[in-house]
Amino acid sequence: MNTSPLTPPISPLALSWSPANLSHLNRRYEQLHPRDVLRWGLSTYGADFALATGFSPSGIILMHLISQMKPRTVVFYLQTDMLFPETMQLRDELAERLDIQFTEVHCNVSLEDQKGRYGPNLWESAPDLCCHVRKVVPMRHFLSTKKAWATAIRRDQSITRAFTQVISWDKNNLVVKLCPLATWTSEQVWEYIREHNLPTNVLHAQGYPSIGCIPCTQSVDSGEDERAGRWAGLKKTECGIHVQPVEQVEQVEKFA
Ligand code: SF4
Repeated sequence: MNTSPLTPPISPLALSWSPANLSHLNRRYEQLHPRDVLRWGLSTYGADFALATGFSPSGIILMHLISQMKPRTVVFYLQTDMLFPETMQLRDELAERLDIQFTEVHCNVSLEDQKGRYGPNLWESAPDLCCHVRKVVPMRHFLSTKKAWATAIRRDQSITRAFTQVISWDKNNLVVKLCPLATWTSEQVWEYIREHNLPTNVLHAQGYPSIGCIPCTQSVDSGEDERAGRWAGLKKTECGIHVQPVEQVEQVEKFA
């Protein structure tokens, strides 16, 4: 991978966003280090840029890079009310270590309200609806105040993420989406974590390579897919925030 510290000389603010010119940018940034992708996002969108995290090792790398480039950048997470206590401990440790003030994004639907509306244990009876209520909708609401966001998903995580682009148009949220680590492997991620002595979720050492909500996360056996423990036994593999609708959004009036 090319790790040039130099950001190519472009004038992104002069661009009128469309799928076509984002493809052009994507080809350019595909070859560069994640810090270059983040630098482009930060310099282009400033306060309209936010980093999302689920506190994965990949996300911690992006937090580490961003904390070095632009402290106090908005780093947000989706509070589903069902995150592991270990994840919350990691959040607090990262806040102190990297001087991050996390923004908690919540759906404003308590678990009790959800039970009243849809019945008990919605994550078992209708997990797509549960994710829609607790993740997709609050995410869309939050990103309606932004123009770009970054996420730590990688192509090697699963077949559904194999075609992740470094820079793309997020048709769900009508913002630019950056995936600076799209081309990285799990080995590269853990090498970076070790090299910089960054904290990670203690559950990883207990057989949980991917950690989400408590009822939808299981440990995996050696050699299994990194995300095999998410919604295990169901066809569901994604919560929905990384799934794009079929419809094409050609006109991006927000950036005109
Ligand atoms: Fe609900 Fe499970 Fe989705 Fe969390 S991961 S929002 S508990 S279905």
